[in-house]
Amino acid sequence: MTQNQERLEASSVSAVAQFKGHENSIGFLPLETCPGATHGTGGCADVCYARHGRSRMPTVKQRLQRNTALLNGYCNEGDERGLTSDLLRLIDRATKQFKRRKQIEAREQTTLYRQLRTRGSIFRFQWAGDLISETHARAVRTACEKRPATTCWLYTRSFHLLEQLRPAPGNLTVWLSTDTINEVEARAAKRQHRWTKTARMQEDRSGLLCPKYTGLPTQQACARCGICYDSTATSITFPIKHAATAAVAA
Ligand code: SF4
Repeated sequence: MTQNQERLEASSVSAVAQFKGHENSIGFLPLETCPGATHGTGGCADVCYARHGRSRMPTVKQRLQRNTALLNGYCNEGDERGLTSDLLRLIDRATKQFKRRKQIEAREQTTLYRQLRTRGSIFRFQWAGDLISETHARAVRTACEKRPATTCWLYTRSFHLLEQLRPAPGNLTVWLSTDTINEVEARAAKRQHRWTKTARMQEDRSGLLCPKYTGLPTQQACARCGICYDSTATSITFPIKHAATAAVAA
């Protein structure tokens, strides 16, 4: 293994990156790292875009595979400290990229500069995959807590691990990802964890729709929008025909 392969690698995901090449997200193999995946009509497993889209590209898939192997290693050994440190390194790198770019854009007072100044540094956990273990959830929580200046968010169907994220630091927003198959469990999880928010995959377009489905271009959509990490919204809807995107980009 090369040194690079022994550490987790971040991704630059078009909707989340605050500018081209910004690596402010991390992904793992979809389904393999999704203990709460829902199967059948209306579920996330069949339509998840992480299984059908970008992650099928060989370079992306290899990165997800390497990250998954490393994550399994940390979790099997219960190495919460090691995983936390690896996640902190990724957040720090993304934040450094952010600061450098903001400085450059400040010279011309560009639109991007104003956007970066408004949003601050952002980091999304699991653009593909989910929380797999108590070690994983606690490491994510600690990493966020140690980097309060970076705004973080995640979507999860691993409701059994929510306790490990508690108390969630102020810079971490946790969305319960739900659909017709896991809605009962999601409601129970929400009752128990009122600090969480609810992301619905559903056929009707009721509720607050993710603006990606009402015309906001995908490129830097989350970086511009902010609903999922910088708003008082407590629920959001991802239309089912776009469920693949919702399961990952949302
Ligand atoms: S609602 Fe959430 S997923 Fe949709 S564009 Fe805004 S931040 Fe991104």
